[in-house]
Amino acid sequence: MRLTRYFLPVLKETPSEAQIVSHRLMLRAGMIRQQAAGIYSWLPLGFKVLRKIEDIVHEEQARAGHIPIQMPILQPADLWRESGRYDDYGREMLRMQDRHERDLLYTPTAEEMVTDIFRAHVSSYKDLPLTLYQIQWKFRDEVRPRFGVMRGREFYMKDGYTFDLTEADAKHAYNRHLVSYLRTYERMGLQAIPMKAEGGPIGGDYTHEFLVLAETGESEVFYDAEITDLRFGNREIDYDDAGACQAVLDEFTARYARTDDTHDEVLFHERVPEDRRRVARGIEVGQIFYFGTKYSEPMGATVQGHDGKPVPVHMGSHGIGVSRLLGAIIEASHDDNGIIWPEAVTPFHVGIVNLKQGDAEADAACTALHDQIAALGLEPLYDDRDERAGGKFATMDLIGLPWRITVGPRGLKNGVVELTSRRTGESEELPPEQAVDRIAQIYAGH
Ligand code: ATP
Ligand code: MG
Repeated sequence: MRLTRYFLPVLKETPSEAQIVSHRLMLRAGMIRQQAAGIYSWLPLGFKVLRKIEDIVHEEQARAGHIPIQMPILQPADLWRESGRYDDYGREMLRMQDRHERDLLYTPTAEEMVTDIFRAHVSSYKDLPLTLYQIQWKFRDEVRPRFGVMRGREFYMKDGYTFDLTEADAKHAYNRHLVSYLRTYERMGLQAIPMKAEGGPIGGDYTHEFLVLAETGESEVFYDAEITDLRFGNREIDYDDAGACQAVLDEFTARYARTDDTHDEVLFHERVPEDRRRVARGIEVGQIFYFGTKYSEPMGATVQGHDGKPVPVHMGSHGIGVSRLLGAIIEASHDDNGIIWPEAVTPFHVGIVNLKQGDAEADAACTALHDQIAALGLEPLYDDRDERAGGKFATMDLIGLPWRITVGPRGLKNGVVELTSRRTGESEELPPEQAVDRIAQIYAGH
């Protein structure tokens, strides 16, 4: 992509309304535009990262055997009256009527609708286990939308729902989600720590939240410092193996880690030696719940068990804050000059900076680099504007591409370009072909 043909409305000024760094950087880098409190348009750069995060979520869900569907954003209120939540949900739920004065709502979550799908089409234990999920826009009329995409009113969420015959099976489904979430966040370059949490309006006490540690996080968290050494890494796991999934849950939840909702100061002191006790802040990027028959019973979602008698299914629901993750990643990975994208989610793989636009040799070298990198199946962003080098570097740093190739007439005389890491700032001079090879190697694993 040539920058002159792209749409990258970067801001020179720091927007005064943005209180935290990720919000400031997303606005400055031209990723989002606020249209109303907590409601955003996703501009090309932001939309690209959103899609990459979404792709990783889909890939990891597929690996765990979970099946994607898409449910409507507008849902009939009657479905929510069946579970009792239409009245319980309160003012966070956006309610409306169609021309026939039928009550509708903008989905804040979708337990009722997925339970309706289940009861219409599944009747035997032989069809279980089943996990259906979607990645879909949600609306919650938050009292205080703030921090950009971190706490929007409209936001993009992955929500998955599990259906099992027994509590034990449902807990396996829960553990499977825990494992798949650990993998998902690590692939995005994040450490998200599962912490014992509270159910809230979704219900159930058997629940963990995943938190990314960050000073700007809205949750207060209490944990054993040892937990930050845990990594899921590249382990192979058989998601059908209940014991293996349980072992991962045991490993990642053995140490004290709780949000303020469930924090117990006495227990904290008993279980964690003083030098390992940490009180910090975190960003909730996901939550998993097991809630048994809370929805299946009132809504009549039953299956015939082994003895032929109908039993309500055991359910769980499992969410990832897809749009919030952009903010979380930026909070975890930036410096004074801008964003530093992890390779796995970067909107473009490499930036190409032409130091002397209009110089025939430099222009040709940049175009060649651009085309060779594109031929690898990667996306370069070529800054072909007629601008000073300083401005081009500042833009590249701001938008956070992890690698930059700088091309200028002086280097080209010696047959070299410069390859620079956004993260370390280290540069290396090398012939253009070698720079392309290096880029290919760097992204081979992504
Ligand atoms: P919070 O406590 O932050 O309000 P929640 O616990 O109500 O979130 P869940 O129902 O668990 O949210 O939703 C699943 C995920 O969706 C959350 O872990 C979070 O990452 C994301 N999420 C929830 N509310 C918002 C929001 N208003 N804006 C952006 N993402 C959100
Ligand atoms: Mg939650």
